[in-house]
Amino acid sequence: MSDFNLTKEQEQVLIQAITEAEQQTSGELRIHIESNPDTDPMERAKKVFEMLEMHQTALRNGVLFYVATAQRSFVILGDKGIHELVAKDFWNEVKETVIGHFKEDNYVRGLKEGVLMAGQQLQAFFPYQDDDIDELSNEISKGE
Ligand code: CA
Ligand code: CA
Repeated sequence: MSDFNLTKEQEQVLIQAITEAEQQTSGELRIHIESNPDTDPMERAKKVFEMLEMHQTALRNGVLFYVATAQRSFVILGDKGIHELVAKDFWNEVKETVIGHFKEDNYVRGLKEGVLMAGQQLQAFFPYQDDDIDELSNEISKGE
């Protein structure tokens, strides 16, 4: 996996995928991409989750897609409300799909499919509500 920077078009594809996923579920999805943090990806993902104030959703159903490009790492992290409702291996299929595409350097495709899958999976537990609020921005967040 080489380092990568999203083009404007690719960024739009991902924002679109998040928007689409959030039309299925009240869950809030975010993507954070950074190069090479000097820490354990899971620990770092937890920090980013806090930094983006993702624990502030009403139903505690925020989901972070965290990517460390130089480390070839991907972490999917859901908030408390999700953990309380779903089985431990809930994200496995999503994770495998994303990582499978990453191995072939298809980052955008991997993230896009992962986000859409996550939206579908969350739908059963957190259905979309007519009075939905976009609690967390759909923009892609980036670190150094
Ligand atoms: Ca929402
Ligand atoms: Ca959102």
